[in-house]
Amino acid sequence: MLDSFKPEYIGYADYLKEKTKEFQHGELETPLGFWGGMDIFFHGSSDKLAFFYLTERSSWKWMKNFVCLGKINRFLFDVLLNLWNVAKGNTLFRTNNIPLEKFHLFDTDVKKPLHKGIPVKYISFHELDGIAHKYGTKSIEVVEEVKRLDNILSKIKWDMIMSDHGMLDIKEFVKVPETEKCFIDSTLARYWGEKPENMPIEKCKLIKWDTKYGDWIYLANPGVCFFPNYWQMKECKGMHGYNPKLKEMKAFYILNKIGKKKDLTMGELHREIA
Ligand SMILES: [Zn+2]
Repeated sequence: MLDSFKPEYIGYADYLKEKTKEFQHGELETPLGFWGGMDIFFHGSSDKLAFFYLTERSSWKWMKNFVCLGKINRFLFDVLLNLWNVAKGNTLFRTNNIPLEKFHLFDTDVKKPLHKGIPVKYISFHELDGIAHKYGTKSIEVVEEVKRLDNILSKIKWDMIMSDHGMLDIKEFVKVPETEKCFIDSTLARYWGEKPENMPIEKCKLIKWDTKYGDWIYLANPGVCFFPNYWQMKECKGMHGYNPKLKEMKAFYILNKIGKKKDLTMGELHREIA
């Protein structure tokens, strides 16, 4: 799995490009949000929209006692919570820019790795995602990273190569209101309880989803990034998590199987290989 690999990047990848001439491949439509794509890939369906949600029964309640430590050094705060994750066999994660005094109000929707218990050899490459966030999708850094990945792929045996989403270049940063019970992702602003006031409604739209993820959920318009948010410390150039119907948001897949170009949704890909 190549995190954030867009179909257009094939143009920089000689090996993969050659493979598209004989093997089934295409664009991949992923669901809205940040975790549903790989959840559907492995399990066939998903209601996951985001990583964090508000709950009174958070697994992180005990971290409330370490807010002071986090204020001195957030890295130590993250080390502490990941020691707990290691002990439980959970995926590791960082608290990034989440206000420390709020952290214990949220729980994480994905605990065990999504592929756990599924009989596949799964390797994921995440460097491209970080590079495209930092430098933008049209940068020379992205081209170089795609070439590096292409070289690695040419040396390993694979049955399928795919990505989890596309990415688009940010045009505008927009500040959204912060309330006591809210979580600000980069393209989703989620509020529990009262409807937030002063929402920049011309820059986003209200969407409907399971209220577990927020009573009021706003999706940023393409190219708009909510900032400040709970993920990025500073402004970046590329982002994903927009309307999945946008061409820029499409992921990519290729099967080690003779065939033509065939665009699929993540659900269709799951059924195709199940
Ligand atoms: Zn990303």
